[in-house]
Amino acid sequence: MIQIQALNKWFGDHHVLHDVDLEVAQGEVLVVIGPSGSGKSTLCRCLNRLESASSGTIRIDGVPVPEEGRELARLRADVGMVFQSFNLFQHKTVLENVVLAPMKVRGVGRAEAERTARELLERVGIAEQAGKLPARLSGGQQQRAAIARALAMRPKVMLFDEPTSALDPEMVGEVLDVMAGLAADGMTMVVVTHEMGFARRAADRVVFMDGGRIVETGRPDTFFEAPRTDRARDFLAKVL
Ligand code: ADP
Ligand code: MG
Repeated sequence: MIQIQALNKWFGDHHVLHDVDLEVAQGEVLVVIGPSGSGKSTLCRCLNRLESASSGTIRIDGVPVPEEGRELARLRADVGMVFQSFNLFQHKTVLENVVLAPMKVRGVGRAEAERTARELLERVGIAEQAGKLPARLSGGQQQRAAIARALAMRPKVMLFDEPTSALDPEMVGEVLDVMAGLAADGMTMVVVTHEMGFARRAADRVVFMDGGRIVETGRPDTFFEAPRTDRARDFLAKVL
C-alpha cells in the first residue's frame, strides 16, 4: 500500500530524512517511534505531500505521490491524516466537519454524507455530539471527531501523528481504543506515537527512527524485548 524508496528531505541545508526505505502492506499497522526531531512527522507529511520529498520516490497503492492538481487532491482523499492538534473547523458542528470533505471532494450528496457521518460518529462513540461545536467537546471527543472526519473520505491509508500527545491522560485510552478498532478492522495505518502499550498491542511492526534514519524495525514483541541497537535500547530505557 505504501512504498518509500531512498527518500531524502532537506530543509535548507538541514538533512532531516536520510535514504528512508519503507514498505507498508495493505492492512498493516506500522508504529513509528523515536526521539523528538528524528523526522517522524516529516516522514508522515511526505506521505500526503504536506511536505515535498527532496529526492526518492513514494508510491501509495502503486501510484507515485503527485506534485499538484487533481491527482494530489485524490491522494489527499486516499490518505487520511490525524494530527496532535485536532484541526477541526471550530465554527462548524461536528457533523458538518465530517460531511464537508466527502461532499466537496468526493461529490457525495448531503443525505448520503450525513448518513455515513452518523455511522462514523457512532463508530467512534460520539454520535450524541453530532450537533455540537467542537469547543463543546472534550479533547478526546474532538480527536475522535477528527478520526471520523478522516474516515469519511474512505481513505486507503490512515496516518496518525502523535494523536494522543495533546490529550489529558484520562482521555488517551478512548482514542487509542478507536484506533485499535480500526486496526482490527484491517485499516492500513502508520501511527507515530509515544504510547508503547498501544505499539505492543496493535502494531504489526515497529519502526524506530533516530536522526532522520530508520535505525531498527521489527515485530513489537522482539523489538521491545530485545532491541538490537544501542540507540533503540537507550530510547526505550527512557520511555518505558
Ligand atoms: P519528529 O516528528 O520526529 O519530532 P520532525 O519531522 O518534526 O521530527 O522534525 C525533524 C527535523 O526537521 C527537526 O530537526 C526539525 O526541527 C526539522 N524541521 C521540521 N519541519 C521543518 C520545517 N518546516 N522547516 C525547517 N525545519 C524543519
Ligand atoms: Mg513530530
